[in-house]
Order: sequence, then C-alpha cells, then structure tokens
Amino acid sequence: MDKTEVKARIEQLRALLEENSRKYYVDNAPTMSDQEYDFLMHELEDLEERFPEFRSPDSPTQHVGSDLDAPWGENAEPRTASEFVKRPHRYPMLSLSNTYSISEIEEFAARAQGSLGSGFSYCCELKFDGTAICLTYKGGHLVQALTRGDGLQGDDVTRNALRISNIPKTLKGDFPEEFEIRGEVLMPYSSFEALNKEREDEGEPPFANPRNAASGSLKLSDPDEVGRRGLWCTLYHIPAQSVPFETHDEALRKAASWGLPVSEDRRLCSGIDEIKAFIDHWDKARRDLPYATDGCVIKINELSAQRALGYTAKSPRWAVAYKFKAEQACTPLLSIDYQVGRTGAVTPVANLAPVQLGGTVVKRATLVNQDQIDALDIRVGDSVYVEKGGEIIPKITGVNLALRPSGAGKPAFPEFCPDCGTPLVRAEGEAKWFCPNQDGCPTQTKGRILHFLGRKAMNVLAGEAAVEQFYETLGVRTPADLYEINKYQLTSLEGWQERSAQKFLDSLAATREVPFERVLFALGIRFVGESTARDIARHFGSIDAIEAASKDALLEVAEVGEVIAGSVYDYMHNPVHLREIERLKAFGLRFETVSGAAASEALEGLSIVISGNFRISRDAMKELILSHGGRCSSSVSGSTSFLLAGTKPGPEKLRKCETLGIPVKSEAEFMAMLPGGAPVAGRDEELTLF
Ligand code: NAD
Repeated sequence: MDKTEVKARIEQLRALLEENSRKYYVDNAPTMSDQEYDFLMHELEDLEERFPEFRSPDSPTQHVGSDLDAPWGENAEPRTASEFVKRPHRYPMLSLSNTYSISEIEEFAARAQGSLGSGFSYCCELKFDGTAICLTYKGGHLVQALTRGDGLQGDDVTRNALRISNIPKTLKGDFPEEFEIRGEVLMPYSSFEALNKEREDEGEPPFANPRNAASGSLKLSDPDEVGRRGLWCTLYHIPAQSVPFETHDEALRKAASWGLPVSEDRRLCSGIDEIKAFIDHWDKARRDLPYATDGCVIKINELSAQRALGYTAKSPRWAVAYKFKAEQACTPLLSIDYQVGRTGAVTPVANLAPVQLGGTVVKRATLVNQDQIDALDIRVGDSVYVEKGGEIIPKITGVNLALRPSGAGKPAFPEFCPDCGTPLVRAEGEAKWFCPNQDGCPTQTKGRILHFLGRKAMNVLAGEAAVEQFYETLGVRTPADLYEINKYQLTSLEGWQERSAQKFLDSLAATREVPFERVLFALGIRFVGESTARDIARHFGSIDAIEAASKDALLEVAEVGEVIAGSVYDYMHNPVHLREIERLKAFGLRFETVSGAAASEALEGLSIVISGNFRISRDAMKELILSHGGRCSSSVSGSTSFLLAGTKPGPEKLRKCETLGIPVKSEAEFMAMLPGGAPVAGRDEELTLF
C-alpha cells in the first residue's frame, strides 16, 4: 500500500469503527460481531503504529467507546438526553487491551517480567460481558452509580442501581469512609430469555445479546422496570488511590467482607503456565455459568507494580484481556424460509435442528442473501457451522462437507415474492432481492403499519397480532387508515374488550403530541432511521420544506449522503405518499417542529458546519447548535453561515471556506455568541484504573 492508500484505509477504518461503536454502546444494537470489530481495531492500531504521521487523538484507538446518552439512538428504549445527569469520574474509566491469541498473552507476561523482574504475581479473573458501572459508597451507603460514559464522565444511574438486587445499599464491617468500586452489570441468561420473549410477544425487537440487554436496561427511565429486569452485578476493581492495600486481590477480599458482590472465580497465578491453565479451564467451564463471559482478564496483582507500568491513553499496561473466540456449533440445516421485510427485502433464513450455543438454544440462523448462500455452497440437509456474532439471529459460517448427504441439491432462490407472488427484482449493485410491490404486498404493508405504531415511532399500544387483525378484518392498508377505526369495529374483533379498545384509541389519539422528528421516522422512508429522521426534521423544520427540497438541499443535512437523499427525494415525489401525508395531517399529526423548547434564538437562521474536536462531544455540540435555533450541515457550501472549527479541523473544509469566503469561528468565539456561554465539565487529570 502506498501512503495515499494507507491514509484512505485509516480513514475508512476509523469511520467504520466509530459507526459500529455507536451502534454497540448507544443504540445497544450491534450489527457486527465483537471479533470482527476487534480485528478491524487491531488493523487500525497496526497501521497507526507503522505510520505515526497519520496518528490522531481523535482516533477510536485513543479513546474508549462512549455510552453517553444520545437523544434517541436506533433501537434504544425510550428515554431522553436530559434524563441522566452526566457527572465526571473521579478517576477515568478506561478499557482493556485485548487479544484472541495465547502467544500475545505470553508476550504480555514476558514484557511484565522484563520490566518488573521477579516478586510479582498475576490475578486472573473472568471477563464478565455486561456493562461497566462505578459505585461510590460514603459512610457505608451507596451514594452514586455512574456508567463508564466516555471514560471521563458517565451517566448517573444511581436510582436504577438501587434496584439491582445484589448491589448492597449499606455495607458491613470495617469499610473506608468513602471509596469507589467498579464492576459490571450483567443480565443472566434466564432473565434475558424471559425479557426477549416478553418483547417479542409485544411486537418489540428482541435484544441482540445479554450485554446489550443489560446496558439498555441500566439506562431505562423507569427504576421499577429496571428492578423487574433481573439484572445482577459483579465487582472487580477498587481504584488504588482510595484504599490502602498492597495487592488487587487483597482489595477484592476486603470488598467481599464488606458485603459487596465480588466473584470468587479468580486465581492468583505465578507465571504463564498457570495463566494458560486458568484460560483453558474457563474456555470450557464458562458454558455452565448462568451469565455471559467473553474472556479472561490477567492483571498484575501488586499495586506498586501496577503504578510502575502505568497506562496508555486507553487502557492500563498492567492488564490484558484474553477474549474467547466466538462459540461455534455444528447442526443439520433442515429447510430454508424466505422472509419478506417491511422494505420488501427478501432474506433467506435457515431452519436448524435445535442446538445449544452461547447459553441459548438456536433453531434459526440468517443466510443473509443469495451471494452468501452461493459463497458457502450450502445445501438443505448439510451439517452447518453456526456462530453467534453481535446479532440476535446467529450466522451460518460454513459447511461440514464430509457430512453432506448424497443428492443434496443447491437451494433455488425464489423468483416470486413468497407472500404476494410478484416477480422479485435485484437492483444493480444490491445483494438483496426485493419484492417491488410496495403498496400491495401484505407483509410489507403490515410491516409498515407495525413500524408506524412501534415504540420508537408513534408508540401506540398494539403488536403484531393486532396489526394482523386490522389488516385482515378491518381492511387497514396504511397508517392513516388506523385513524378511521372506531370502537365498535375494535370490540367486534376477537379478543378485544371495551377497555382494550379504549386504551388503543387513547394511545392513538396521543400520537397527535408526538414530535415531528418521530412522525417522520414513523413514515418508514427507506434508509431513514431514528437519528437521520431527527437530523432531517430539525434541519428543515417541516414536511412542506422537505417536500420542496432538492436532492442537493437534502445532502446538506449532517449525516445524509447520496443514498438517503435519493430515498427521501423519491418518497416525497410519490403521489401515493403525499396523499398519505395529507391524510395524516388532517388527523392532526405534527408535521412541523415545535420551536418552544429552544434554549435561545441566538443562532436562528444560521447554517453551521462543524469540524474537528471540541471540549464537548460532537453530538453534544450539534445539540447545542440546534437548541439555540441553528442548523447543522455536513458540508461547506455557499449557504453555510460559518465553519465552527475545533482542534484539528478538516483541511478540506478549511480550504473550501477560504475559496467561498465563509468565515471560520473558533470554539471560544462560538461560545461567546450564546447567552452565558456553555458549561464544560471539569475533569481530574489523574489517571487510574479502568
Ligand atoms: P472490553 O469490553 O473489551 O474490555 C474492557 C471492559 O471489560 C471494562 O471496561 C470492563 O467493563 C469489562 N470487564 C469485565 N470483566 C472485567 C474484569 N474482571 N476486570 C476488568 N474489566 C472487566 O472493552 P470495552 O472498551 O468495554 O469495549 C470494547 C469492546 O467492545 C471491543 O473490543 C469489542 O469487542 C466490543 N465492541 C463491539 C462492537 C460491535 O459492533 N460488535 C462495537 C464496539 C465495541
């Protein structure tokens, strides 16, 4: 690779990792497996190591992934940005360097010995797969619980932590007057399965895995609901500054004596052979644990040695995580279903002979698309390898050809929609086949109605079964038809009572209060997820302005590229959709943003492009601009009011400003434009554990 290619690859990797980090930490809906993510991260680390001229403090290799509350992330459960107060961590909460290779654990041990000599030991622990938490006890009482957040500040989830049954509210014994203890909040498999079953019954998307479920549950706005979710906590670290111990193990033993939940599944090891034995043991034994673990953590036990080794920007040098490879199972493929989704995409889904994998029984796996079936050369009757990645539906990753039954033929992808019989189409460059009968295909129609009613869209109390009844019995074909249903019709449906009918009608009436950005999301425009809908709604302010927008005007919205702009433009130029919007308007839905909530009008009418790093996150900066009446655009154009440049702004953007004569403002100049400026949380510079 020449330098231009290296730079391009680095940029690509950074963008991909940031995007997936957001899906994982904020939306709790990863679409990539952890292993894939880690391999990409290692590739980036390696390139930055070999080409130091391309290093940047902004790179995902240099900071921990942030779980700080976004206004409303894809698939996140309802909550608002203001619900959790952000508080600074007394000591930054860092990540762990990780590896999937035993030889790198050997290198870690060799390095430790090289710099520490002899006279130190290792504390080996399980790597619990949940979400990190930092608890503060004062006078023996739990006074604060923070998430890891961006490592420097976390969301205050104290009210929720108080509802986790094994987190003690008060301590016993000789506990210090004030100290912090860190660990993981987990969702045991049993709670996870029960929760997903409940969500599926209610027509909600299930959580991808117990980690995402734990992290989503900890950020719920209703502590009672948190209490019902069966979360569990295990603690593994006391920042050394706050207590006078010699070793990590001693600190944990003391914590256990104060009544804190500390895992006993740890072991002191004197060298690499014992470390390897610990890893080998847990690689198998973890399958019997009632909660998820994704590896082992090897820590230097002596706190003085830890201090001597110190930290990188992202992780301690005195600890390393060995991650277990994704679990695999081999099982017969019984048949293939072809499922049509809300957008018309047809996905092949494998029906498997049930098999145990990662703590749950797997019966179905996605085959993704035709190309994937071809690439794996899969036949019905084959014994296939199944792996669980980040997604809820496991993936088929290979075939055991030795077990192929004779005469097993290649599966034929259907030519017609399995639901409405329309010939399927596959657009140039697309991997998926689509049913083009958007307005007539029952599955697509029902999917769109279900999406419209969904919790993150209009939040109406009705699931899949109700939509089926509305479609079949009441002839509902579009969201607007829902508003014509009356109580008499509802009570004539099987299983509906006066009370449930009234509840449905009340929750439908409440949709008149749903903000425009969610109404826009509810329309189900292809490629327009929750955050894109929010950006578009806030940028244009009304559906009329979106309808009138050219593709170029759509491209000015932050995060909107050619594909999304094209999709929105086409949607807004389809007379069927315009008629539907008019009907929904007539029922009183909001098709304009309400400006009353703005913090000020200081930036009214200004179109601002931001570039570089700021003292607050880029998302927070965008929120700040919007709350003062400004608009955010992704690219500099003739209509840009000014470029807000933080540290390391993009050279391309600066050049364009110079060519077009667009002013560039610093963060300080920008803050001075706002009434009273904006607060920035102070931070303790001292680095400590995790
Ligand atoms: P991590 O989960 O790999 O390791 C650090 C964390 O481990 C700590 O913050 C702590 O919360 C936890 N931990 C559990 N047991 C522990 C113990 N005994 N001692 C100390 N810490 C313990 O790192 P991370 O920064 O939380 O997350 C990064 C990882 O998340 C990536 O390596 C990747 O696997 C995953 N990820 C996946 C995606 C995706 O799209 N699938 C996206 C982003 C991140």
